[in-house]
Amino acid sequence: MAKTYTLPPLPYKYDALAPYISEKIMTLHHDKHHQAYVTGANAALDKLEKARKGELQIDVRAVLRDFSFNADGHILHSIFWPNMAPSGKGGGAPGGKLADRISADFGGFDKFKAQFSDAAKTVEGSGWALLLYDSETDQLVLTQVEKQNVMHLAQMTILLGLDTWEHAYYLDYLNDRAKYVENWWNVVNWSDVDSRLSKVKR
Ligand code: MN
Repeated sequence: MAKTYTLPPLPYKYDALAPYISEKIMTLHHDKHHQAYVTGANAALDKLEKARKGELQIDVRAVLRDFSFNADGHILHSIFWPNMAPSGKGGGAPGGKLADRISADFGGFDKFKAQFSDAAKTVEGSGWALLLYDSETDQLVLTQVEKQNVMHLAQMTILLGLDTWEHAYYLDYLNDRAKYVENWWNVVNWSDVDSRLSKVKR
């Protein structure tokens, strides 16, 4: 397996966030939990590759779910670590362009902080509260993520998609989704897919 995810080092010492977050938590969280997501994402990619080569039978739905869960855990934690700064160097309120955007889009920093906090406190089960930039509406928005799946969509460019909701095929294919998928390959616009790939900044 040639291309893999790797665990990034923390951008500060394990005890740098104390007393707000302890050295013990940071060590376990980074070295064990984040590492497990990296390992899990790489294992899922490896299984998919072996399956393509005919070396392994897999439940593709289960393996793709594993990939999403683990890759997304890796991506989110890779953002989370540098989102924090050592005690005494972080906190307070943002400045500059971010402060202006938050004021414009949330009606002020206090209102943003209150709603982000609400989002974080009310995640059902394990998950995340996130601040996002939506390029379509050119504004900052909040979101809540249960567990941590499908967040890779936020950082990866979608090149080709296939709608597998029933509304996309039921009138033609009834419940035969497999037939719809098979026939769909006849209408793919590869030049559009290619132009999306060529726009990816590398
Ligand atoms: Mn975590």
